[in-house]
Amino acid sequence: MSFADLSLHSTLTDRLAELNYQQPTPIQIQAIPVILSGKDVMAGAQTGTGKTAAFALPLLQHILSKRTVSIPLDLCAENVSAKAVISCLVLVPTRELAQQVQSSIEQYAKGSDIGCVMVYGGVSIGAQIKQLAAGTDILVATPGRLLDLLRKRALSLSQLTHLVFDEADRMLDMGFKDEIVEVLKCLPSTRQTLLFSATLDDRMLSFSRRLLRSPQVIEV
Ligand code: AMP
Repeated sequence: MSFADLSLHSTLTDRLAELNYQQPTPIQIQAIPVILSGKDVMAGAQTGTGKTAAFALPLLQHILSKRTVSIPLDLCAENVSAKAVISCLVLVPTRELAQQVQSSIEQYAKGSDIGCVMVYGGVSIGAQIKQLAAGTDILVATPGRLLDLLRKRALSLSQLTHLVFDEADRMLDMGFKDEIVEVLKCLPSTRQTLLFSATLDDRMLSFSRRLLRSPQVIEV
């Protein structure tokens, strides 16, 4: 099995070859086709399995495929608004994971015009508001800071198509459930949702029922 067998855009397979990724890992082989088919996914995968690329590559593929559709000029003008309209949101429990995920996504997206911004708490919110105002396709966020930014109307999630939970079990361990429920109220109900967690126990299954629609369960 090669990355080309996974029907990924040549921009991405070229980039993966540059990064010397010779073949997809088991989580990538199982998850990428299901995600590309549009289904919700609940995946049990530890750090180190290649889980980040398993969700990031399909997000990038989705954005690249939208880019090939020509947009009328007047709509383009409207897109240049002060408020970021996010199509893909990756929720993470910690600042460290936000940094890792953003850096991986930037690595895979290098050479394209796809933007990825990260926001997390514990630092000044002003610079993040400015970054969002410049626009981005993908936002990597911790739940608390995301809520603060939503309350300040610094971004809109009304056009969101893809929502990812990375290390969802740690998000619950850290007590982010209420924040997540608040964020969900700002999202369109028609969206694709992907949940990655090191453990898929009863607690995770019951949490996932609120988030996912008939998900395909993948465990590696
Ligand atoms: P993750 O589980 O997402 O934290 O990824 C663990 C590490 O594996 C990261 O350093 C990735 O850059 C690397 N990686 C992910 N997928 C592949 C692959 N298919 N081939 C080689 N390295 C990979």
